Amino acid sequence: MKILVSGAGIAGLASALELGRRGHDVTVVEAARQLRRTGTPIDIRGPAIEAVDRMGLLAQLQRHRVRMSEDTHFVDSAGEPVARIPMAEISDSADDIELLRADLVRVLAAALPDAAAIRFGDSIEQLSDDDSVEVRFASGRTERYDLVLGADGQHSAVRGLVFGPEHDYARHLGVYFALAELPAAARVGDANSIYNVPGRMVGIFRYQGKAVANFQFRSDVLDYDHADREAQKQILVEAFAEHRSWRIPELLDAARADPGFYFTSASQIRMPAWHCGRVALVGDAGYCPAYLSGRGTSLALTGAHILAEELELAGADHTAAFARYEARQRPYVTFAQERVGSGRDRIVPATWAAIAARNAALRASTASAAAETAQR
Ligand SMILES: Cc1cc2nc3c(=O)[nH]c(=O)nc-3n(C[C@H](O)[C@H](O)[C@H](O)COP(=O)(O)OP(=O)(O)OC[C@H]3O[C@@H](n4cnc5c(N)ncnc54)[C@H](O)[C@@H]3O)c2cc1C
Repeated sequence: MKILVSGAGIAGLASALELGRRGHDVTVVEAARQLRRTGTPIDIRGPAIEAVDRMGLLAQLQRHRVRMSEDTHFVDSAGEPVARIPMAEISDSADDIELLRADLVRVLAAALPDAAAIRFGDSIEQLSDDDSVEVRFASGRTERYDLVLGADGQHSAVRGLVFGPEHDYARHLGVYFALAELPAAARVGDANSIYNVPGRMVGIFRYQGKAVANFQFRSDVLDYDHADREAQKQILVEAFAEHRSWRIPELLDAARADPGFYFTSASQIRMPAWHCGRVALVGDAGYCPAYLSGRGTSLALTGAHILAEELELAGADHTAAFARYEARQRPYVTFAQERVGSGRDRIVPATWAAIAARNAALRASTASAAAETAQR
């Protein structure tokens, strides 16, 4: 089949890989001019480990494993550690693979078969679905496809065109998230550091000689252009405008200067169905669990794998394949979406008192774990 995938993120690249290998003629259309490689390390967990194994990528991805989250401290305004994040809260099992988003993107892209090509700097503008899907692109080009997959992330254009506006499906969890790369000259300690002021956190995460600043702040839903990076930087700067402690001003300067700046909300996408006619959604586009769940990448990988497998099993019957894909993927999505729990209160406590209580609770649990180990 001739298949168009919108978005060359994790879901889009994994779908192109899985479908191209099964003999489909796949085009990926990506709005950015190149693959987007920003991002802190992300996790491949649970059934997604089997999915990347089936893709033949497990050993390669394990070689890119980083152990970033093991060494993360909450610090005070002088940069002194005041508490530590326990590993049990970060990973499900020792089999989890934590790796740079950039490395996952690179490995998936390098594995694409000849049958899958990426077209950068374009996006879908209109779709009409009958015996096949007629697509008009922003570039003016028009083409027909047997199937279209929306793998274009949390603010999916395909979802908007086929299923309706984002606010019908989005559930905001009350936090925004930004990432900026730090200049090489930035001072970076031995451990990752997270500093809180009420309702806000700023962190420095380091890996493989690079470092990123991560910002999170509590906020009701904000209305902004998801494609306008400068406007997003301004929102971030305003959110921290009254705070100059620790390294906040320096890190905001880094955010202003970073062309790859990334900004998103902690929001889930909850939809009753991920397919309509010849169009289906994969990854955050259909079932974003919010970064607080730590499972968005895993869902993108299982979704891409299951969808390709079901299309292969169903032959030309894409309706049956889409239905089977939904039935198999839905339990993983429900599990992930229910796991956002106390993430916000832990990472972004709302008051000074809540910050102090969080630190005291973490110190107590570290001390009791150490005592248990000493007794063994
Ligand atoms: C640059 C970047 C950095 C990220 N950093 C983190 C991080 O640090 N931590 C974390 O938990 N999650 C991060 N994420 C999100 C995380 O990658 C996803 O939640 C998860 O991997 C699911 O992947 P996805 O492919 O569904 O979505 P994404 O990885 O978001 O990929 C969507 C892709 O679609 C493209 N796209 C968007 N709109 C259009 C359009 N209209 N037409 C064509 N293409 C379009 C985007 O440019 C992107 O390449 C990041 C995403 C991006 C894009």
